[in-house]
Amino acid sequence: MKDLRLAGLKTSRSTIEVKGVTIGGKEIILMGGPCAVESSIQMSQSAETVKQAGGKILRGGVFKPRTSPYSFQGLGLEGLNYLVQAAKEQDLLCVTEVIDAPSLELVVDKVDIIQIGARNMQNFELLKLAGKSKTPIILKRGLSATIEEWLLAAEYILAAGNPQVILCERGIRTFEPSTRNTLDLSAVGVAKELSHLPVIVDPSHAAGRRDLISGLSKAAIAAGADGLLIETHPNPAEATSDGPQSLTPEQFVQLATELGVVARSVKRVFTFGGKSDNLEALRTQIDRVDQSIIELLADRMQIVRKVGDQKRLDRVKDTAREKEVMLRLIHLAIEQQLSPEIVKKIYPLIFEFGVQSQIKSKLAQAKDLEHRSIQ
Ligand code: PEP
Ligand code: MN
Repeated sequence: MKDLRLAGLKTSRSTIEVKGVTIGGKEIILMGGPCAVESSIQMSQSAETVKQAGGKILRGGVFKPRTSPYSFQGLGLEGLNYLVQAAKEQDLLCVTEVIDAPSLELVVDKVDIIQIGARNMQNFELLKLAGKSKTPIILKRGLSATIEEWLLAAEYILAAGNPQVILCERGIRTFEPSTRNTLDLSAVGVAKELSHLPVIVDPSHAAGRRDLISGLSKAAIAAGADGLLIETHPNPAEATSDGPQSLTPEQFVQLATELGVVARSVKRVFTFGGKSDNLEALRTQIDRVDQSIIELLADRMQIVRKVGDQKRLDRVKDTAREKEVMLRLIHLAIEQQLSPEIVKKIYPLIFEFGVQSQIKSKLAQAKDLEHRSIQ
């Protein structure tokens, strides 16, 4: 690996703090919005969706580096105002892409994060300019860039004086035509092994089709991504760009409801839901948590039954083990600022149902055996 004197892994990982949002910490940061800013209403609706899902950052391109010169090139300054205004309405941060020195100058003091896109990852003059600003940068991996080239591009920004770089894996070009690009999830782990910078994943530009976004997003979290950048549009069929890969608002919100459990499984956090002052939204969040509690209880009972298979019928109740579990959970409850009384009330019941179900299944097994031996 070439000289990564600033981007290379140090003793600890970097977190990037942007107006109260921490990227690279325990929390998975969701960013969403349309590919291109098209109108004020489109951006207001997108911001509402992102907020509802528990997203923290609104995206929207106003300078679009399009493959064809005849495709929509973005609304420029007019679009920037729509993006900034919509983010403000929902108390979100915002990010937009810059493509050259003039666009950088125009947006640098107006947005919270600047994106340097895949096509400009090795635009070294742009990297140096972005390095002179104080605004955090999302640096996308180039379409055909190696991880080393990507990290060296980050090094350019760091070397020019801006330490706030977030790497973004967005798919690379391979021989496979079924998807627009191939999402290189190993790159998340490799980049985090080589560099201290946070790494996020954009599954939208990788897949190019909305049916894969949900699975890829979850896989990205499992692979260690610190955040997701996902395209969503109030009406994807009418989108001026990247409609086929944009989630509908409903799909975006639905996906967000499913991210918490994946995050938890890799010791990260994602909290679904935005407006905490809205009764309906709060109740939706409670319903989600209740569902998880029941699903987890069902999982627990299944394991308990398996444990029962390994016990003798007269040894099903294990008081010492119950005491040990109880003590551990009381400590955990206190750590989580939860009253230990909840554990003391609920767990004896959970233990009791466990024991009952073990006895039941052992008796059933014994009967079955007896039945077979008679035959
Ligand atoms: C985008 O985010 O809209 C975009 C153009 O992304 P990429 O540079 O990854 O193609
Ligand atoms: Mn796009």
